[in-house]
Amino acid sequence: TMAHSKALLVLENFIAGKFVPCSSYIDSYNPSTGDVYCRVPDSGKEEVEAAVKAAKAAFPIWSSKSPLERSQILNKLADLIEHDLEAFAQAESKDQGKTITFARTIDIPRAVYNFRFFASSILHHTTECTEMATVGCMHYTSRTPVGVAGLISPWNLPLYLLTWKIAPAIACGNTVVAKPSEMTSVTAWMMCKLLEKAGVPHGVVNVVFGTGAKAGEALVCHPDVPLISFTGSTLTAQRITEKSAPHCKRLSLELGGKNPAIVFDDADLSQCIPTTLRSSFANQGEICLCTSRIFVQRGIYSEFLKRFVAEAKKWKVGNPSDPTVDVGALISKEHLEKVRSYVKKAQAEGARVLCGEGVDSLVLPDGNQKGYFMLPTVITEVKDESCCMQEEIFGPVTCVVAFDTEEEVIERANSVKYGLAATVWSSNVGRVHRVAQRLQSGLVWTNCWLLRDLNLPFGGMKASGIGREGAKDSYEFFTEVKTITIKH
Ligand code: NAD
Repeated sequence: TMAHSKALLVLENFIAGKFVPCSSYIDSYNPSTGDVYCRVPDSGKEEVEAAVKAAKAAFPIWSSKSPLERSQILNKLADLIEHDLEAFAQAESKDQGKTITFARTIDIPRAVYNFRFFASSILHHTTECTEMATVGCMHYTSRTPVGVAGLISPWNLPLYLLTWKIAPAIACGNTVVAKPSEMTSVTAWMMCKLLEKAGVPHGVVNVVFGTGAKAGEALVCHPDVPLISFTGSTLTAQRITEKSAPHCKRLSLELGGKNPAIVFDDADLSQCIPTTLRSSFANQGEICLCTSRIFVQRGIYSEFLKRFVAEAKKWKVGNPSDPTVDVGALISKEHLEKVRSYVKKAQAEGARVLCGEGVDSLVLPDGNQKGYFMLPTVITEVKDESCCMQEEIFGPVTCVVAFDTEEEVIERANSVKYGLAATVWSSNVGRVHRVAQRLQSGLVWTNCWLLRDLNLPFGGMKASGIGREGAKDSYEFFTEVKTITIKH
């Protein structure tokens, strides 16, 4: 059935500044059509070994460059990606299923900004110094790059999240071996084509494509990779923790969420409703920061629900390359089935589905009939103990429930294993502070969502992760610190 289709795109690993073919490949699907359109190297130990060797060889020269020299190279790379922004956005949308609008305005601009941001922030770090005047000595800290960093990223924001790791790792003077998700590898491969022109020396950035079980695990288990920065699911993080334990590796783990939105009866609904729709359904709900439990205070519950559902029904699902579309395709057939199964379980438990899956009909363009699409879905009358209120669904599904008091909603919001992001909606400043303080969540947005200053820490509590990323946090993770004492 492939006879009518165009030649497949075939990716190659990028090792020591060269593209190298692999002996076996994995099929990669276009989520909006269901067709195989790309083949991704199925790398394993051998390829990872070659990449780590190249990264080790490049480390002495790269780590001895000044921060300013590295900064200039990062800025050049940012310019080159920005120059090709449209091509990157088209590729990301095709590979991932996300809308072209989202890729153009969020994914690729942020990938560019990641390089610019760390190109700048690396110039401004200071270390510590203390004096013990009475004994005639001073102590100071010195920071140096660690070595070869292993970077493993997920499929939801492919280039955005990969560059959020590559940029600080190399800015600090490390060399890297990166492994993007096997489902979304194309934009990382495109970036490799720009490295030489940007002035990144051979071996500083190596990219090995393949599955988590083979390529990912080979990287995690490699004795010459002392640190692993991972973004993905909590289950995979547990496996990585186990596998890396014999080597005592340094780990940064950015994991899943089950993020609450808390809407008090004094909230400005004209702001809250459109933002909560976005926080529930943006990127098909496939963002770790997406809202999936909306707690609404009793007095405004029915009004909120009515307006929220009416607006959710307006979100247009369809061909991701159509700029008027709001919801593209989910990443894979298996993932779509998993997301749908949660809606079925909720119904079986007696919850009500107010719009979307199984309630409204999904009309798709001719070319997208086999794509992995789903309507934004709102569930209500669901118990806090339900799997839909406890587990990360990672699709366009959100639950809306009522609450009465501040005390009660804090406890219910905290009653999940995750602790990544929360939003609080209220015009009472005192309440906003009280609630934000008590939420078990690495990030709390009040009266907004997704506004970020990359200087500040990003990461989760509880099962949502270990460690933080950001200007200072990433610098600390990607460097080794030493305390030196001088007595005169
Ligand atoms: P995943 O854990 O399945 O895969 C993530 C990456 O790990 C992929 O590159 C995969 O190939 C690799 N991997 C899988 N098994 C591995 C193993 N045994 N050893 C080494 N590497 C392995 O996650 P996913 O499905 O790609 O992404 C979705 C998840 O990521 C969601 O849980 C989401 O919340 C989370 N996420 C978190 C953040 C954050 O910043 N906290 C951001 C985006 C996504």
